[in-house]
This record gives sequence, structure tokens and C-alpha cells, in this order.
Amino acid sequence: MAYKTVNPYNNELVKSYPDATADDIEKALSSGYALYKKWRDEPVSSRAEALHKIADLLRKNEDELAKTATVDMGKLYAESQGEVELCAIIADYFADHGAEMLKPTPISSRNTGDAEIYHQATGVLMMVEPWNFPYYQIMRVFAPNFMVGNPMILKHASNTPGSAAAFEKIVKESGAPEGTFTNLFASYDQVSDIIADPRVQGVALTGSKRGGQSVAEDAGKNLTKNSMELGGSDAFVVLSDADVDKAVDLAWRVRIYNAGQVCTSDKRFIVADNLYDEFLKKLKEAFEKLVPGDPMDPKTTIAPMNSERAKKKLQGQIDKAVEGGATVYYGNEPIDLPGQFLQPTILTDISKDNPEFYDEMFGPVAQVFKVGSDQEAIDLANDSELGLGGIVMSGDPSRGKSVAEKIETGMVFVNSFLVSLPELPFGGVKGSGYGREMSELGLNAFTNEKLVVTA
Ligand code: NAP
Repeated sequence: MAYKTVNPYNNELVKSYPDATADDIEKALSSGYALYKKWRDEPVSSRAEALHKIADLLRKNEDELAKTATVDMGKLYAESQGEVELCAIIADYFADHGAEMLKPTPISSRNTGDAEIYHQATGVLMMVEPWNFPYYQIMRVFAPNFMVGNPMILKHASNTPGSAAAFEKIVKESGAPEGTFTNLFASYDQVSDIIADPRVQGVALTGSKRGGQSVAEDAGKNLTKNSMELGGSDAFVVLSDADVDKAVDLAWRVRIYNAGQVCTSDKRFIVADNLYDEFLKKLKEAFEKLVPGDPMDPKTTIAPMNSERAKKKLQGQIDKAVEGGATVYYGNEPIDLPGQFLQPTILTDISKDNPEFYDEMFGPVAQVFKVGSDQEAIDLANDSELGLGGIVMSGDPSRGKSVAEKIETGMVFVNSFLVSLPELPFGGVKGSGYGREMSELGLNAFTNEKLVVTA
């Protein structure tokens, strides 16, 4: 049984789940495919009510769902509650706007006929999702594709099976037809076999570069459309005219949220030389105030990491960075608690030849760099194999925006937290993957953009 909940706060094995069988897989594929054919003949708007019902059920069951996520992967209970509410917002948004956005788009053409693009369902969608936002990662794909009419099969992370089962239960309770969404505790080989099945016409993965490469290879072999939402080592750029207190207030929240395990939470802080010392000192003061403890306790402000494996990996990266010449400006001390806690840590003096310079540090570690100009900040921000998001802080929004324009990532926010909302496209470039989730772009990620010309 590869799928298990081990509470990262106290290392207790909570529950193991049975592996998916060949029968489970065939049932998910056949019921999904039969539903795809049925949905093809029904108007998109007929699914809106069920999606609103899912939003209602998420809100009604928020406490239970939030506890399940916190026990699965350790995030603060309040953060889990926020995640459930965000899922409900996403479901409501696509229920309200999906049908309108999926109406045929007319094109003006020199052809004598009326040309239109239809946005139609394509078949069953395979989704492979990570543990860090165990409901939201599913919902980003689920809500738009439910409206489109693509039934879905989920392979969730092996350490968040409780959340996967809870999401499936909500969908079932909403009265959505059989085949809408099947959670499978599947192995990598079973995922490969599912992708090879011709009933599957799309693959969406959120996860690491390695996982993305492997699943994209399977999709490529079968010429199956796919989208990849991979890692990020985003830059938080503090320009010389920024308000330092505002920058630090955003910086520590960004880095510590979800114990630092967020693809879009900035990991590299690139600070103008006139503000560097003050920024570092104040960031350290903010980190010093953090309280590790039970993620269910509202007094706790820094959660454990999601697993022993993740903590060991990050600790190894810190050690390697230090061996390579980095300075520990703050942190990296053991925390006297049984769970997977890693003290928030600030690293400086990370030179380009440091083995960790190009690595994503997926946890509560901030790398801080000093730069002498806006151009130097842009060059350093872009000196990365990844390109997901980013933040630019400036007293002058137009200066901030001109720096944002030059950063090679999929999303940049000026003077703001990088927020994820259903109306905003989400995704990256370079090693951070391709494709977009959410918004109209995400809604059409797995549609057949079919041209119909009527003479
Ligand atoms: P991961 O190892 O790639 O796991 C993600 C999912 O992929 C899990 O369900 C995992 O299953 C599955 N998986 C991995 N290799 C697979 C394979 N060969 N075949 C089928 N399934 C496979 O990712 P992680 O390290 O846990 O997650 C953290 C990474 O995800 C970070 O790099 C982070 O930045 C990135 N991320 C990106 C986004 C985004 O939206 N761009 C959002 C969140 C996280 P198992 O659990 O069974 O291994």
C-alpha cells in the first residue's frame, strides 16, 4: 500500500489506502468515456448547477476538509480553511462564467461563409497532482473541465490520499454522474497505461521537473495533449525606491506560507544595495518571531514540512549551499519537536558557482542577493532554468512594471502578493512548464478548438 497519511506534526501513521486494481482503472475509464459521450449532447450550462453544489458542499464541510488536509500534509489549519474556500470560489466562478466563455467564437474571414470556433470536450482527462495544496491543485483542473465536459481521473500524491478521497466524496455527494471524477491510488506504471488508453485525450500534471518529464514523455509517445505546471525559484525584486517595511512584510509571508512549500512563493530575494542591510535585518526579525508547533493550534505560525523525505532533501540542500560558500545569516538550528520542522533560514553569499544557485529550495529558506541596479536585478532574476512567477517592489508602480515586463516568467505581480484567482491565468515558462490553468486560457486547455464554416 503505497498511499499513506503520516501526520507530519507527530509522525503518526494515520491510515494506509489500498492500491488501485486493474478493475478500478477500467471502471474509471469506461464510466468516464461513457459520460464524455453523454455530456457531448448536453448544453454546457446544464452542468453549472452541479458545480455550484460542489462549491456549497465544500463550504459546508470546510472544517472536516481542512482537518484532513492538515493531517495529510501538515499545513496550518487556517491555511487549509483558506484553501477550501478558494476551491469553492473557483467552482462558483466556472459555474457562473463557463457556459458564456465556451460559446462558439465568431471569426471574421474572407471566406464567404460564417466561420466560428467551437470549444468542445475531447475525452477523459488524466490529472497528476501534488500534495502542497491537496484540494486547490485538483480544483484548478476540475472546475473548468467539468464545465467543458471532460470527465477526469486523478492520481494524487502518495502522501495526501485522505484529501484525494475527501474531494472524490464531495463530487459524489453533489450528485454529479458516475465517471465525472475518479480518484485512483495508482502506481506510476498504471498512470502510464492510463495515458496510453485512447479514451484519454488530455494529461495535466502539477509537480516536479522529474515527474513532469516522465509523464510528458508518456503523453508525447501517445500524442496526447498535456500541460505541465512545474517548479519555480521565483525572484522577489526590491528596487532602490521600495518601502522596505512593506517589502519585508510581504517577503516573510510569501516565504513562510505553507511552510515555504509553494511553487510560486518567491525563493530568491534580490535587493537593491541601498536597502540590502535593512531588508536582511528586518527579514531576520520577522523570522525570529515565528512559532513552530501543532498546525491545528492557532498560535502556531510555522508549520512542519510535509514529510521526512522533503525535510531531509531541503536540509541536504542547505548543507550543500553552505559547503559551497553560502553564509547562514539566520536559522538552520534544530527544532526540538518530533515532527518534520525545519527552522526558517536565511542564506546569503550564494555565488553563481554554488551548487545550490540554480536549485529550487522547496521549504522555509530564503536566499538573499544584493544588486547595484535594476538591470542587474533583472539579469539575476532571469538567470534561472525556471520561470513561474515573481514579485517586484517599487515606490513607483511604472518603474516596477517596466522591470516586471523584462522578467522571464509566466506571472509577475508589482507591489503585491502573487495571488491565484479563477479569472487569472496560472502557469510558467522555461523549466516551469507549459500551458495555463484557470481563466479562459485554462478553460480551453483541453478543448477541441473546432472550426465550423457555414456557407
Ligand atoms: P512530484 O514528485 O513530481 O509529485 C507530484 C505528483 O506527480 C505526485 O502525485 C507524484 O506521485 C506524481 N509523480 C511523480 N513522478 C511520477 C511519474 N513518473 N509518473 C506518474 N506520477 C508521478 O512533485 P513534488 O516534489 O512532490 O512536488 C513539489 C514540486 O511541485 C515542486 O517542484 C513545486 O514547485 C512543484 N509545484 C508546481 C506547481 C505549479 O502550479 N507550477 C504547484 C505546486 C507544486 P507520488 O506522490 O506517488 O510520487
